[in-house]
Amino acid sequence: MKTDIKELIKKQNLVIAGPCSVETNGQLLRTAFELKETGKVDILRAGIWKPRTNPGHFEGIGTKGLAWLLDVKKQTGLPTAVEVATAKHVEDALSFETDVLWIGARTSVNPFSVQEIAEALKGTDTTVLIKNPVNADLKLWIGAIERLQKVGINSIGLIHRGFTSYGSSEYRNEPIWQIPIEMKRLFPDIPLICDPSHICGKRDTLLSVAQKSIDLAYNGLMIESHYDPSIALTDKEQQVSTIELVNLLNSIKWKNSSSNEDNFKLNLEKLRLEIDTIDQKILSLLSDRMKIAKNIGEIKKQNNVTVLQSNRWNDILESTINKAKNLNLNDEFVKSYMEAIHIESIRIQNVVE
Ligand code: PEP
Ligand code: MN
Repeated sequence: MKTDIKELIKKQNLVIAGPCSVETNGQLLRTAFELKETGKVDILRAGIWKPRTNPGHFEGIGTKGLAWLLDVKKQTGLPTAVEVATAKHVEDALSFETDVLWIGARTSVNPFSVQEIAEALKGTDTTVLIKNPVNADLKLWIGAIERLQKVGINSIGLIHRGFTSYGSSEYRNEPIWQIPIEMKRLFPDIPLICDPSHICGKRDTLLSVAQKSIDLAYNGLMIESHYDPSIALTDKEQQVSTIELVNLLNSIKWKNSSSNEDNFKLNLEKLRLEIDTIDQKILSLLSDRMKIAKNIGEIKKQNNVTVLQSNRWNDILESTINKAKNLNLNDEFVKSYMEAIHIESIRIQNVVE
């Protein structure tokens, strides 16, 4: 069973679905049977202990829900996944034969908690998914992987659920795509799963976020679903009904990580060569530009003039952004590109002997 799960989480286009929280045995049974019926769900997720921001709300059904989950697993054949935040959760979840454990975003942020969980997992052969920490800290996410690996847990996956930010946003949790993309670059063998439910916080944007993750070569999706989201005790705005889940999964344009089609390979190769040539030209132009910046630094120093010349910088930025518009380049991109060049140029001028 365990070895199947290890293979399963590596499956391309994996779908994990299920309620935010287990509420009643009936709710769990009905949701799980509907999901099984779709034939599109690989793993049933369900929260047993819920980390709520404020007290006085439903905090999960607790350990008794694990027995219901085990029963549902036996009846539907769906492997189960549960969030754990303490050593006791790990012990309880494993004693009820939960197949996959995941560490939530409010837990992966805390190295003490991750360490406690890792120690409870030591000597087991469990598959563990690690959600990104609530704050946009790549190193904490990496640290959680390392803590698990150190105790011998090798079946690991990552879940991107977005990052908290202050103020209003179209997202419940900002996706900040560059962080999971960097994790994929650093850990190419660890499956990366997108949780659009907690990124979006509402149903109407789930498809576009899910699609984006598939376009970015994620391995799968975790989507919260409930047989009737309108009566859900937690995260009711973002959960989808079974039919909505099916529509969502059918609307996604699933991608392959590669293709063996000859024409595709040939065209891709040709275009990549063009990109490589352009990158080479950009690099050598950048090098020329920095040499000039160094000369400018020297004459500023000789004449006792400040390195930063705000008016000149403002003019360059404005005129570059204007020119970029005519070249169909995105304003924000050109702005951050110019800022990066300017920062490096200032650094070079400051190190002039
Ligand atoms: C959840 O998956 O229901 C959950 C609590 O998620 P997160 O840790 O991403 O907030
Ligand atoms: Mn939730």
